[in-house]
Parts: sequence; structure tokens; C-alpha cells
Amino acid sequence: MFSKIKEILFDWPDPNEKNLEMVNAAYDSLMEEFKYMDYKTYLRTKHWVRIKEEALKRAGFKCQACNISDADLSVYHNNYDNRGRETRDDVIALCETCHAKIRSKEK
Ligand SMILES: [Zn+2]
Repeated sequence: MFSKIKEILFDWPDPNEKNLEMVNAAYDSLMEEFKYMDYKTYLRTKHWVRIKEEALKRAGFKCQACNISDADLSVYHNNYDNRGRETRDDVIALCETCHAKIRSKEK
């Protein structure tokens, strides 16, 4: 098994190019995985933790609905269209009160 991998890597004209190809293939399959994995599991990935941290920073650690800053904030999905590749419009930082209000309106 290992000798086969070595053969592939070392016979490739440029080993760095081969590594790049493997890294990109791994990245693509990871992105697919984020899209289809169990949602609760997704929320425990390092990827989501990072999305959350970036969203909180962008929001200046304030609720994006009421602007409160000394409350427990959580990051929620506005939509799930880009799960795994969330843009700044796909997530929102909210305090518990605002989140509860939005949830009750949705029902
Ligand atoms: Zn709020």
C-alpha cells in the first residue's frame, strides 16, 4: 500500500503538483461532507466553530438585532443554502431574547 503511494508520488513529474491535487481533492470531499452530514454533528466541526467566531467578530460581539453587547450571543443560520460555505449573509449573531422572538415569529 505505502509503496504504491510512494510510486505515485515519486513518478509524478512534479511531486508538489501531485500534493496540490490531493489536497484539493480532500478539500472538495470535505466541503461535500459539510453539506450532507448530520446538522448537529456539523455544528461540532472546527469549520463551524470558525464560521461562528468570524461572525461574532464581524458583529463586534453585539446582537445584530438589538445591539446588546453584554449578553450571551449565539450564531444562527439565516438560511442553509450554503451550508459548509457560509457567506456573511448566511449567518447572524443574536442574543437569546432576539433569537427566541425570531423563532416564535417563524412558527
Ligand atoms: Zn438581541
